[in-house]
Amino acid sequence: MSLYIDPHIHMISRVTDDYQRMAQCGCVAISEPAFWAGFDRGSAEGFRDYFRHLTEVEPKRAAQFHIKHYSWLCINAKEAENVSLSRDVIAMIPEFLNKPGVLGIGEIGLNKNTKNEATIFQEHVDLAMKTNELILIHTPHLEDKYMGTRMIVDMLKNDKRVDPGRVLIDHVEEHTVRLALDGGFWCGMTLYPTTKCTPERAVDIIEMVGTDRIMPNSAGDWGKSNPLAVPEFIQEMKRRGHSDAVIRKVVYENPLNFWRLSNRWQEWQLPVKDGKTAPQPGKEEKKAKAARR
Ligand SMILES: [Zn+2]
Repeated sequence: MSLYIDPHIHMISRVTDDYQRMAQCGCVAISEPAFWAGFDRGSAEGFRDYFRHLTEVEPKRAAQFHIKHYSWLCINAKEAENVSLSRDVIAMIPEFLNKPGVLGIGEIGLNKNTKNEATIFQEHVDLAMKTNELILIHTPHLEDKYMGTRMIVDMLKNDKRVDPGRVLIDHVEEHTVRLALDGGFWCGMTLYPTTKCTPERAVDIIEMVGTDRIMPNSAGDWGKSNPLAVPEFIQEMKRRGHSDAVIRKVVYENPLNFWRLSNRWQEWQLPVKDGKTAPQPGKEEKKAKAARR
């Protein structure tokens, strides 16, 4: 079984059984970007609770299955149309940045490519630059995708403080992947059963652009989605004869190497080779605690 990381999945919308199935399929770590809650929240306080959920509740739920849980904080583009609410939320984010497992600011971006969305996107980027955070970016879906990705890349290039090597552009497809990679950014391919990218298309993209700075994710969220999409991608890679080393690079080493750039990163022990599974998180701490008693 190939061990893997799912670098973009909204576990708040999933049941606990999904964690169990993901662990059984080889998932060792995930990161959960802040996003829409399936409804528009009424106040900044709603986001305070959401950020507590992301940084306190989900890591515990994941740990039951020995999955490490990381998170990203922001107000998403769907709710960014409300500029004053967005500014209240952005002002609150620094309170949470030093919580364990927070990797940076995200997923920020554009939804309908509006002026307000662009304003709030740039204010998030400004916060990320002032606090030296990584950035995770959501690009719009379907007909808005190319234009939105273009706008995002232009805004980032116009901000001279931004190092593209510390930014990941997500939900890339065939027509936007080169915009991201050629600009020096990392990129994510979101695997969806119907819209966005299927596992087969994602493997086509890997065969087209190579394996550097690219990774698949499931985005499991409030819509119809599959939390086991990354294992499906792995199966398709195997079916086409890609080596275990190549598969491991895109589903494990790439996301891990991007996360390692986070300014609070704490290294964890890598799973050992030859099919043995990862050491159980917390085992060392438990041992140390027992020794102190
Ligand atoms: Zn998402």
